[in-house]
Amino acid sequence: MKKADKKGGPKPTRRKTVVLPDDACPTCGTMMKEARGALRTPVNGEEVSVPAVPHFKCPKCGEQVLAYTQARRFEEDAIALYRKKYGLLSGDDIRAIREHHGLTQAELARLLRLGPNTISRWESGRNVQTAALDVLLRLIRDLPGSLDYLRDHAA
Ligand SMILES: [Zn+2]
Repeated sequence: MKKADKKGGPKPTRRKTVVLPDDACPTCGTMMKEARGALRTPVNGEEVSVPAVPHFKCPKCGEQVLAYTQARRFEEDAIALYRKKYGLLSGDDIRAIREHHGLTQAELARLLRLGPNTISRWESGRNVQTAALDVLLRLIRDLPGSLDYLRDHAA
């Protein structure tokens, strides 16, 4: 189980994971109830509000906690909303660009000088590319020869 953010902190740090023995509230110990409502989470440093997120809520103190699968879905939904808001390529768009050029995730990551798991996280919706890298991906998609240029200048 995982505590939900009530308000955005100054830094978009990872949320704290709280392991619970059962459905007890981590704050006051009361048994929590299933709930559904809008929750906010930071994406690239910006608060994103996701509607109708299934979670658990403490009837006594109001603490909100997400089960692991709920938290994962919540973060994927937040990233999808963020991508839509800024017109960024979707995970499927990125996969299509990569596969069009016959590249593995690791090969594309190397050409863009990214960590080996970055492309996988973008494609699965667990993380989101910056606007600058979004432009670079569009160049690879739309500008013939750009991939050759990257290969020639690979680290
Ligand atoms: Zn409580």
